[in-house]
Amino acid sequence: MTGPGEPVPTTAGERVFTPPVFMYHSISPSDAPDPHALRVHPDRLERHLRLLRRLGLCGVSLGELLQAEEGGAARGLVGLTFDDGYTDFLEHAVPLLDRYGMTGTVYVVAGRMGDRNQWDDGPQLPIMDAVQVREVAAAGHEVGSHTMTHVALAGAEPKRLAAEIGDSRRVLEDVLQSEVPGFCYPYGSFDAAAAEAVGAAGYDHACVTGDYDPGDRVTLPRCYVSPGDTAAHLVARMVRHTVRLGRRRLPVRTRGGHPPTSSAR
Ligand SMILES: [Zn+2]
Repeated sequence: MTGPGEPVPTTAGERVFTPPVFMYHSISPSDAPDPHALRVHPDRLERHLRLLRRLGLCGVSLGELLQAEEGGAARGLVGLTFDDGYTDFLEHAVPLLDRYGMTGTVYVVAGRMGDRNQWDDGPQLPIMDAVQVREVAAAGHEVGSHTMTHVALAGAEPKRLAAEIGDSRRVLEDVLQSEVPGFCYPYGSFDAAAAEAVGAAGYDHACVTGDYDPGDRVTLPRCYVSPGDTAAHLVARMVRHTVRLGRRRLPVRTRGGHPPTSSAR
């Protein structure tokens, strides 16, 4: 069996995407209620990073992972992603990632910068403002879009899709003064029209919230990391990913034609 990031034997010209992509949200030592199980303690994140290092793996942003995969250099890499753009990413995750020489992608809700996660009925957490978003990018991490207002996109009207998907990219590109190639569907909610809108908005890739369905370049699967995940859980998730999804192909820059799917948070 191949391990995470190792190329699967394949015929010439075929492209295969195997590395797991981990999905975190808030990284914080807070002990406030966490009804949606979206907060991982920094000590636990550090144990995860230490485990990756011990296994000879390196966590990188999704953009970097895809680029490496295209160049046949994804062996030993796994993706690290952080949804919603909370300020605790800058405070707690960035120093740890730096210490371990790893990078990640943070998906920012572009219309809520400097605000809070009003879409959530859980604890209200501060979201990075434009200055902090620039700081993240300057520290070598990838900034992706997570819509303008964190809405579920499955079933949304074309106008809404264009606003949430396209406008958020323009807002972040204006903040960063550089291209924003990555997008992430809030709640993992998408359908064919949403996936098509992602391509039409000029994104290079997008990810969902589940690791159960093989996706294509704009519906890339991710492994959810729960607050209680030990190193052993992480290994189990990587093995599961490798077994279930390791042998699918990665189409290049698809522009639509995606099966209507949606999933829970
Ligand atoms: Zn989110």
